[in-house]
Amino acid sequence: MTQEATVRIHGSDWKLADVEDAVAFCREHQWRREQWVRRDALVQRTGTTSLYTGQRYDPAYCELVRRGWSHDHCEICWWTLSEGGDEEHSVGYTNGGRWICSECYRHFIETKA
Ligand SMILES: [Zn+2]
Repeated sequence: MTQEATVRIHGSDWKLADVEDAVAFCREHQWRREQWVRRDALVQRTGTTSLYTGQRYDPAYCELVRRGWSHDHCEICWWTLSEGGDEEHSVGYTNGGRWICSECYRHFIETKA
């Protein structure tokens, strides 16, 4: 029996098979390195929070919270990107909506043939 192929991300071993779909998705997009900063969020009365990107909303049901979007997750490894702190957490790559961490970018995107 052969051992499954793994990749080490942020000190944890991931099965390549578990990330390959996300990697394939990410390779179809253009990424640029950016400092992660808080953005505005729409918080519904039900508690659901979504990123505010200028969409229409009903103030009776939603509240616009300035800088209320506190973090994003890496599309591939679910690493948390947030404002401040060390560069591993505060700098990532974005395609304008989604984010990936620097480590996944180096592992999977930068090195693609
Ligand atoms: Zn990642």
